[in-house]
Amino acid sequence: MNVDLRSDTVTKPTPGMLEAMWSAKVGDDVFGEDETVNALEQKAADMFGMEAGIYCPSGTMTNQIAIKCFTQPLDELITDQTAHVYRYEGGGIAFNSGVSTRLLNGYRGIITAEMIEPEINADNIHHPHTSLVVLENTVNKGGGSCYTLEQIKPIAQLCQAKNLKLHLDGARIFNALAHTGDSAEDYGNYFNGISVCLSKGLGAPVGSVLLADKETIRYARRVRKVLGGGMRQAGFLAAAGIYALDHHVERLKIDHKHARIIAEELAAQTWVSNVMPVETNIILFDTVEPAEQVLYKLDEKGIKAGSTDKHRIRFVLHLDIHPEEVEYLVAQLKKM
Ligand SMILES: *Cc1c(COP(=O)(O)O)cnc(C)c1O
Repeated sequence: MNVDLRSDTVTKPTPGMLEAMWSAKVGDDVFGEDETVNALEQKAADMFGMEAGIYCPSGTMTNQIAIKCFTQPLDELITDQTAHVYRYEGGGIAFNSGVSTRLLNGYRGIITAEMIEPEINADNIHHPHTSLVVLENTVNKGGGSCYTLEQIKPIAQLCQAKNLKLHLDGARIFNALAHTGDSAEDYGNYFNGISVCLSKGLGAPVGSVLLADKETIRYARRVRKVLGGGMRQAGFLAAAGIYALDHHVERLKIDHKHARIIAEELAAQTWVSNVMPVETNIILFDTVEPAEQVLYKLDEKGIKAGSTDKHRIRFVLHLDIHPEEVEYLVAQLKKM
């Protein structure tokens, strides 16, 4: 059996999704004429209580466009040290926007208004101008840890009081919503920009959307073009995104359930020294042996995973992991 737990990006389109892609009505999206792309952008915006959206080839591009829209060169943004925008986007904050980054040490990537406030620079020509805060929900490097909307509200209030923009890297926002029970629509009240990935747990092959007000999205279209992200008959891909929003949101709870089952089994194994609390679809655990050796043994059984540290392994659940795969995995873990 083949169990690929390296990432929730490894999913392949389902037959239903392929059918939706095959029958999509398309046009030239650079001319604004692809009705499927337009429908996806509006659908996602409506879900999150935002005015408008823009479809992009990757989550990295949606985040980088948002940072460009919400800052000027010489500005500074504040985020947690685990943040994807800082660690995994190739230094794009500096390259694309000419902006510096102030890093905080949150708990599993979760930061608070009290932590942010002292890091906002005074209006003084020695300091970069602080103009943006970026939150991530769920936190990838935090092991799928979540903010509730109650935790976000004081941060949004602070940003408003200090005239800062607030962006959400919501690559896995639907996993956070499944865990917290918060409503997507309420999110629009608190953020200037929201990135949503369609190609993670939602199972689309490609694509992310950036949501914001109409004026921001109009400028975002310029930035997307200059980054080379203007796509033509992208509706074939956007159709997969619409299908994912219609059919793959509710089922994220199954991934979370699978993650809890596997984490419990891991915690009972002598070769595992620690399992981080599981909130969503990501499991981080520490091994007695070096992670590389454990990964090698897993690979021999057809189980693929990755390490995030010398003794730390990450499992990510997704829609191509069914109860059969979970059962097989648990049996193999017990035999290790
Ligand atoms: C995956 C991910 C992204 C976007 O990644 P792409 O591979 O560029 O689509 C952004 N933020 C987080 C937290 C992610 O996990």
